[in-house]
Amino acid sequence: MNFNNLVPANSSRYSGITMRFTRHHFFTNRWTLLGMMLFLTVGLFASSTLGWLWYAEKRATAARQSSLDLLWMEQIITNKLETQQVMLQNWALDLDPASKPSRQEFLRRIDELIKENHAILAVEIIDEQQQRLIGLPDYDQRPAHLPPLNDPLVSEAIQQSRRLNSSAYSQVIEQFAPLWVLALPNSNEQHRLHRIVVTYNLDKLLTQEVPWWFVQRYDLSLVDEHDKQLSPSEGGIVAHNKEINRLDFGPSGSGLTFKTSVRTVQNFDNLLIGLAIAVLLFGILIIWLLRLLRRWIKERKAAQQALRERDELLQHTARLSSLAEFASGMAHELNQPLAAIANYAAAAECLLETDKIQSPKVRQAIEKMGEESRRAGKIMHSMRNFIQKSATPHEPYSISQLVHESIELIEAQARRQHVRIQVDLRTEDIKIDCDAVMLKQVLFNLMRNALDAMDAKQTDHAQQLEIRTEQTEDYLVFSVTDQGQGVQDIDKLFQAFYTTKSEGMGLGLAICRTVIENHGGKIWAENNPSGGASFHFRLPLKTQQMPQTQSAQPVPSIQRS
Ligand code: ADP
Repeated sequence: MNFNNLVPANSSRYSGITMRFTRHHFFTNRWTLLGMMLFLTVGLFASSTLGWLWYAEKRATAARQSSLDLLWMEQIITNKLETQQVMLQNWALDLDPASKPSRQEFLRRIDELIKENHAILAVEIIDEQQQRLIGLPDYDQRPAHLPPLNDPLVSEAIQQSRRLNSSAYSQVIEQFAPLWVLALPNSNEQHRLHRIVVTYNLDKLLTQEVPWWFVQRYDLSLVDEHDKQLSPSEGGIVAHNKEINRLDFGPSGSGLTFKTSVRTVQNFDNLLIGLAIAVLLFGILIIWLLRLLRRWIKERKAAQQALRERDELLQHTARLSSLAEFASGMAHELNQPLAAIANYAAAAECLLETDKIQSPKVRQAIEKMGEESRRAGKIMHSMRNFIQKSATPHEPYSISQLVHESIELIEAQARRQHVRIQVDLRTEDIKIDCDAVMLKQVLFNLMRNALDAMDAKQTDHAQQLEIRTEQTEDYLVFSVTDQGQGVQDIDKLFQAFYTTKSEGMGLGLAICRTVIENHGGKIWAENNPSGGASFHFRLPLKTQQMPQTQSAQPVPSIQRS
């Protein structure tokens, strides 16, 4: 017997293993992994270099733009101041200090100018002694936020204006705010020595004149020659980044400087550093993952190898146990026909020994011996198929024939025990597709166990063994019911080698269960309330049922005794 047949070759399974092996080979190959790491390193290096070049270009463009914007902004403020100077000088030209209407007109004009330009704190005309002749704001006592007209820095600007006969800015006067005093010559020939004095709040000048988009894009501050921040005067020192653009503001020697730096550059720097760190971490992560993957695949391969080895071992054990089961099963099943053959042989011998040869009886005994030996052969064949798990030849077989042929095998024992066999076929006599030899063995085993159980009970009154078939929507159910002692341990019934009989082998029910399950069915047992046990098995109808070739008449219940 070739037990290798127990494990059928499966080509698709092998092809799956080959594919898996190929994939593993790809990942576990040293050169492939090295190649992947090299590719990754080169990729990271190239992308970092490109990123850096792009970033450097972006910074250079931003720096160029920043210089241009700062220049533009400084021009805007300077132009504005120059325009105001020209306007004031023109108004002063029209002014006749002796004429009230002229004075009123002048005051009206500078009032409007001050209202429109919050950075202008005061506009005044002073005489040679630096005394105020006319101006705004109007006051009895000079307000504290305005520098006195005889302040040294103010005087210095006025003297310079007189000396050069041109406009002159003072140094920054820090009085509540950074102030700037502008002294303008008066073009009016009659009042040549008068000066127009304008006081600016530098902080407000920047707030008013610097456009919003500039503030959004750049950090801006105005510092003196000692790099002390004059504006903005509130909100602390402006946090410029390293890339600062500087531009002198005001007349030469004023020491005022605009400082700007691009706001986004700071964030952009952080973003780039963040990205670089992320790329680095990502690279490290990938390398770590590759190493992990390689180790994991190695471990898996080793585990699979171990599993495969344990699986060969298991099959070997299974084959040995199958062999043992086969041998035991064979001995169990062949026991009955061989015993019958021996009985018939003994009977024939006895008949031959008598003087008067009763040839019909001898022939009958020899025929029976032939029948039993053929049955033994069939059992052996079916058992072999069953153990080898090869496709058992299933053929359509009539239910009633199956039942009655099984009963024929047990009839003699039943008669000896005075047990009446009752057959109750509640189904149509359909044909089922089955291994009839094995199904008959199942019925035979159940009936023999039933007779054994009733024999063990030893009662005086006549006992009955019932064989019933029923049909549900999906199943065909066979039941064998006895009036014996009942089942002791229902859970162990179908386990191989479980027996309560002194000479039992405990294989009959285990074989029955395997045969029924091989037919897609199920077997179970129960103790009856009125005593005795019932064994049932069901076979699925959908796959089993075959149309009866002859007229499918319901078979009436029959009784045998
Ligand atoms: P064996 O007949 O060799 O013991 P089986 O597998 O056929 O092996 O039966 C196993 C055990 O199940 C029996 O020993 C018996 O204890 C129990 N058994 C089987 N059929 C019946 C029954 N109809 N009534 C009571 N017990 C039963």
